[in-house]
Amino acid sequence: MSDRDFYDVLGVGRGASPEDLKKAYRKLAIQYHPDRNPGDRDSEEAFKDAAEAYAVLSDPAKRSHYDRFGRAGLGGPQGFQGFDQEIFGDFGDILGNIFGFGNIFGGGGRRGPRAGQDLRYDLDLEFEQAAAGCEVPIKIPRLERCETCRGSGASAKDGIKTCGTCRGRGQVAFQQGFFTIARACGTCGGSGKTITNPCATCRGEGRKRVERTITVRVPPGVDDGMRLRISGEGEASPSGGPPGDLYVVLGVADHPVFQREGPNLHCDLSISVAQAALGTTARVPLLGGAETDLEIEPGSQPGAVMRLRGKGLPALDRSGRGDLLVTIRVRTPRRLTAEQRALYEKLATIEGEATAERGLFERVKDIFN
Ligand SMILES: [Zn+2]
Ligand SMILES: [Zn+2]
Repeated sequence: MSDRDFYDVLGVGRGASPEDLKKAYRKLAIQYHPDRNPGDRDSEEAFKDAAEAYAVLSDPAKRSHYDRFGRAGLGGPQGFQGFDQEIFGDFGDILGNIFGFGNIFGGGGRRGPRAGQDLRYDLDLEFEQAAAGCEVPIKIPRLERCETCRGSGASAKDGIKTCGTCRGRGQVAFQQGFFTIARACGTCGGSGKTITNPCATCRGEGRKRVERTITVRVPPGVDDGMRLRISGEGEASPSGGPPGDLYVVLGVADHPVFQREGPNLHCDLSISVAQAALGTTARVPLLGGAETDLEIEPGSQPGAVMRLRGKGLPALDRSGRGDLLVTIRVRTPRRLTAEQRALYEKLATIEGEATAERGLFERVKDIFN
């Protein structure tokens, strides 16, 4: 156990709020977690330092003692007794079930056989698929329970003996500084049993690798980076626990016309100078290939935004749909036919030459007057 300052350990200032502490601690705990850094002593030390620092600073009474007296304020090693329980009890809340915590640490909240591994699948969707929702079959290679031995790994009931390493407890404890840490037994993988007569199908694994096709139901309106959790479709547990979950991470392609902003869609509508001045009825594309009429008022300005209610994407957090926001772009002709040129020149003469520029000069002069 190092004697670094607890605030330094967590990388926060002295005035850190409880949320800041929790955030900083969670980050370190994930980074240095023993499951991620097997056999790395430095990570293990960093992990315990972070846990110790958080346990003190997250308790207002202990924090105030520590702020005034430093480590001495905590009453020496005796002050830490029973304190591992407290820290590891918090893990479930802070880290969620990313690593299957309760099973790694004795004294933690969760007990029982370890759950199967969670799996991740990256699913790419077209924009329209994400907008409308879809069902996509995906192939997942995963470990499933062996049906020959019903997951026991043994060819017969008497082919299973109590594990000698952990004496059937499924955990082994070791002492580190002030902490007693229990880890899943390496000999039996946490099941508390060893197999003397292995199943021929799975060679004692209790699980076998299969490629399973699962249909993912994508709800309408999902966005890029969203994650769907499919409960129980991860890997089978190695020791009779529940299966893990399957996380489907969605990648949504861009649309050639629409840009998305939450449930709203944006697109540009290009009209001519004459259409902007006189007004017109324009055709606007909609999701799914349909079109609708949009009335453009005479005198519409470039950059004006028109809202088509309910023509956006299905909202995920409420009923109904977002809107389609159409931005007016006015197209200035790059080349003119002789006839157009004559008409524009006539228009320019009528309007009085360079009215806009004259207005600009007058406004600049106004500043000096
Ligand atoms: Zn088997
Ligand atoms: Zn064991």
